[in-house]
Amino acid sequence: MELFACAHCATALTRPVSRVRFPVYAHHRVGNMPLPALMESGSYAADPDPSGPPWRPWEELAEARGYPPRRSGPDRRLSDGAPGRILLAPGDDIGTMTIPGRYEGSCCGVAGQDGPNLACAHCGHPVGAWVDDCSLWHAVWLEPDAIRTVPAGPALPVADWTDLLHDRHAVPPLDANGRWRYRYEQEASVTLVALILAAEGSPVVFQDDTAAALLDRGLRRHRPGAAGPAKRCALHGPGRPLTNRHSELALVPCHPQTGRPWPTPPGVAGIPLDLAIWRYLAFPPLRSAVHVPGPLRAELDRDDPPPPRRHIGIWFDGRLIGDLLARHPVPRPV
Ligand SMILES: [Zn+2]
Repeated sequence: MELFACAHCATALTRPVSRVRFPVYAHHRVGNMPLPALMESGSYAADPDPSGPPWRPWEELAEARGYPPRRSGPDRRLSDGAPGRILLAPGDDIGTMTIPGRYEGSCCGVAGQDGPNLACAHCGHPVGAWVDDCSLWHAVWLEPDAIRTVPAGPALPVADWTDLLHDRHAVPPLDANGRWRYRYEQEASVTLVALILAAEGSPVVFQDDTAAALLDRGLRRHRPGAAGPAKRCALHGPGRPLTNRHSELALVPCHPQTGRPWPTPPGVAGIPLDLAIWRYLAFPPLRSAVHVPGPLRAELDRDDPPPPRRHIGIWFDGRLIGDLLARHPVPRPV
């Protein structure tokens, strides 16, 4: 595990956190409503691309608005668009404080577009931004030039797949009303792009009803005109081995800690899928909702929550899909 400390005074800015894979949609705007926290508490991810918002340097903004000078430290600028920006869950930044006056341009929350709005609570040096405006993932971003990585104990043991499949505390991909949670809509959109690329212009036939119900409509909408012999796609992973040896494609779960997808046999292309979605497709809940007069007792709701009341179709994010496909042109069928 690591923690992140202020590069100027070495004070801890975060509690110990464990690295997980970076969600490629972290900078992507979604809808026009407040979004939940993107990262789980205790985890962090490093942005491999300098794709963040073009922040203006602190000194330029401070001079224009008459902000008081920082309490100490050399007159250094934060990185502008540098890779390695650290993404954290709100609340894990235990050693930061807000910078007054850095919230302009925000709507329902803080957009972070005016540059760092978080400073080291000890020395006042700007270190990152709190973001929770509508359409933006609720998150804390730390600037790579303003922080130092400090070892903070051994890495957490990598969870066994058996435990992951039976984790009753894991967040289900649907909320209590049967609506797909925002994050899983993004994850499913990313998987849809991977499927489109792997199909190489061919139609796809799903061998599992749950996978067809989730992905078939999106595939037809975002990859129209597929032609030629269809490629067969099956679910494959722990407890669900491939039973059809003619499958060319396989939807496989990604380990939530390592990010590694479940391996596929030779000749089968693996399509990575978020574990919670894969688990929902491979082992759909068998219980159906039963009407209960009045609210469920709190302890029952906590220990044995009812299944989603109804299921509605998933919404694929066309803008995210378009952006990802633009980076990887899809081969045309010949
Ligand atoms: Zn500091």
